[in-house]
Amino acid sequence: MKVLAVGCHPDDLEIGCGGTLAKLASAGHRVTMVHVANGDKGHKVIPSDELKAMRAREAKASGDLIGAKVIGLDIPDLAVKSDNDDLVRNLADVIRDTAPDYIITHAPEDYMKDHMEVSKAVFDASFAATVPYYRTPSNPDATQGPAPIFYMDTLAGVGFLPVEYVDITQQIEIKLRMNACHESQIKWLYEHDGIDFLDFVRTVSKFRGLQSGVGYAEGFVPCQAWPRLRTTRLLP
Ligand SMILES: [Zn+2]
Repeated sequence: MKVLAVGCHPDDLEIGCGGTLAKLASAGHRVTMVHVANGDKGHKVIPSDELKAMRAREAKASGDLIGAKVIGLDIPDLAVKSDNDDLVRNLADVIRDTAPDYIITHAPEDYMKDHMEVSKAVFDASFAATVPYYRTPSNPDATQGPAPIFYMDTLAGVGFLPVEYVDITQQIEIKLRMNACHESQIKWLYEHDGIDFLDFVRTVSKFRGLQSGVGYAEGFVPCQAWPRLRTTRLLP
């Protein structure tokens, strides 16, 4: 299978679905990780240009851990707009290029606007990708139909009730290692907000595990829109 995961900032996928992506990759599925924003404002001290280069390297290192392809769309932080035609077009281009069996992205409601804008943009782009006369930059063929979408957990799981769970007990350590690749954020959150982010990520995964009867899990909600629903389970 081919799975496309689209997060907003360079560390969001690792937080929300890193264990699931690791599980997919280890089973031989092809995983592509896209971050829409470049993370250029995610630090108090490091200047934006330096930071965005650092964050691209961190994202690449994390993807390399599981053999995933990593793509950055280089939108500045706090400038992600789902009505940006270029963003939707670039996302549609990636969707056509990867022809995913399904897409994982942010839930429509989350703790900050850029995440919610990515959710909307992915929904729109995955439909646009199916329209033959809709042109995208590298001009790949339109996909056959809109891919199923799974929304990943919100930050800290607030306001999110999963419908499907993925057991990541065997992947929790690699999930934490993927998160640890984002050193600028782990340090920043600790110094700026006093948050031990690796513990944060482990705690949410453990709580989802508690809900689903395993050690660690990640929760998802399928996008309920025609014709994206399937009779068989797609998540691992
Ligand atoms: Zn984020």
